Amino acid sequence: MNHIRTLILGGGMSGLSCAYHLNSPYLLLERSDEPGGLSRSIKQDGFVYDHTGHLLHLRNPYTLKLIPDLLGDNLCLNERRAWIYSHHTYTRYPFQANTFGLPTRVIKECVNGFINAQIDSQPGPAAGPESLRSWVLRTFGKGFGKYFFFPYNEKLWTVSADVLTSEWVAPFVPKPSITEAIDGALSDQTKKFGYNTIFYYPKEGGIQALAFAFAKPLTGVRLETEVTAIDLSKKEVTTSVGETLAYDHLVTTLPLARFLKLTKPLPLEIQAALSLLRWNSVYNLNLGIARANISDKHWIYFPEKKYRFYRVGFPMNFSTHMTPPGCSSMYTEISYTPGNHPDDRQAYRDIVRGLHDCGLLTRSDKIISQKVLDIPCAYVIYDQNRTPTVNNLLAYLESLNVHSIGRFGAWKYSYMEEAILEGKSTAEKIDGV
Ligand SMILES: Cc1cc2nc3c(=O)[nH]c(=O)nc-3n(C[C@H](O)[C@H](O)[C@H](O)COP(=O)(O)OP(=O)(O)OC[C@H]3O[C@@H](n4cnc5c(N)ncnc54)[C@H](O)[C@@H]3O)c2cc1C
Repeated sequence: MNHIRTLILGGGMSGLSCAYHLNSPYLLLERSDEPGGLSRSIKQDGFVYDHTGHLLHLRNPYTLKLIPDLLGDNLCLNERRAWIYSHHTYTRYPFQANTFGLPTRVIKECVNGFINAQIDSQPGPAAGPESLRSWVLRTFGKGFGKYFFFPYNEKLWTVSADVLTSEWVAPFVPKPSITEAIDGALSDQTKKFGYNTIFYYPKEGGIQALAFAFAKPLTGVRLETEVTAIDLSKKEVTTSVGETLAYDHLVTTLPLARFLKLTKPLPLEIQAALSLLRWNSVYNLNLGIARANISDKHWIYFPEKKYRFYRVGFPMNFSTHMTPPGCSSMYTEISYTPGNHPDDRQAYRDIVRGLHDCGLLTRSDKIISQKVLDIPCAYVIYDQNRTPTVNNLLAYLESLNVHSIGRFGAWKYSYMEEAILEGKSTAEKIDGV
């Protein structure tokens, strides 16, 4: 039996980064025939499709140097053009700072509600995470909740704002001041808010160009090798080809729930904790259109129920190399609960009808390419159980020299930069740096 010092499961950003930063022997096992995980790109009919939008929001000094080093000239920097579409009107992102152009009654409800929430300013609950509904009402008031936060988040997460907690909001939801909210109600203000005001993106090859750049110098990557069983007491992993590999350190980037299902022995309390993990799935329909410049935006949020998608984005505006000349492309995103996969024909009809309804597609537009990319594990659900459960599970695994990292390994709402940094810090821990 082969014995490997560090076995890495999964060749997405976190697994690749861990391998890239290790200074000791490792083997990375990836079930797909290409590296990248969720950061893979599909080339079809001359279009490049990512798994919805995968944009590089870099803040850390290390990644701000590493990514340009890896991609060289193949990198461009974009200033975010993100919008919301509601009441037949485009408003700038974030909604809470930009209601200009919406019907007066909507603006009134939003701004008055915001001011009242600030005047009433209540502290959050003393114990336990606050529900998203309570946090929104306390922070932004009823109007912003009614017209954006509740419908949008319930569409995205597939659970109610009472079930969702607000633990994940801090890095992702900008908080304007009252003055800024009033300015944005009275005029088309262009002030930028939030963590993602700019983003990097490869000029060519879609986001997978970054995965390929990470993988290029790696000698210990084995593709098309699925992990089928893990024995934690023997410290052994079995693969789809029937091989058994022994390890000292195990780094897993598989969805935590999936990893534990493949694992034995599992104490009863760990099995019970596992059953508390919840997640949603995303159905991503990508379309290629035979018309240039169908939109000048990067992406648009759709909070209203009449649109089945919660977001639509435009890869040709990330980089001009994403479509054939004279064409545009769109990614559309629908969330669903696992086991409730959308019917392809119905989803296509609903999406195309919605795109016509909001004017993104015109009657004469020709859809010349389409590609469904399914993301079975997309957003982990932050409910009251999630944090204590994940803390228990990760502590149990750490005690057995198993590092469960990345968006799905650590079962959290995170992004590629964090995956890359976690891969690096895990490698350093293993190397004893
Ligand atoms: C809809 C959506 C949009 C997003 N947009 C952005 C964005 O704009 N910007 C951003 O920074 N981040 C974005 N993210 C987050 C980003 O995708 C993740 O943070 C990042 O890709 C996580 O990388 P990972 O390596 O941890 O996981 P993954 O990419 O999921 O990699 C895990 C790997 O494990 C492999 N694997 C699974 N099971 C097995 C098995 N049994 N054996 C062997 N291999 C296996 C998989 O094939 C996969 O390659 C988005 C995520 C979603 C869902």
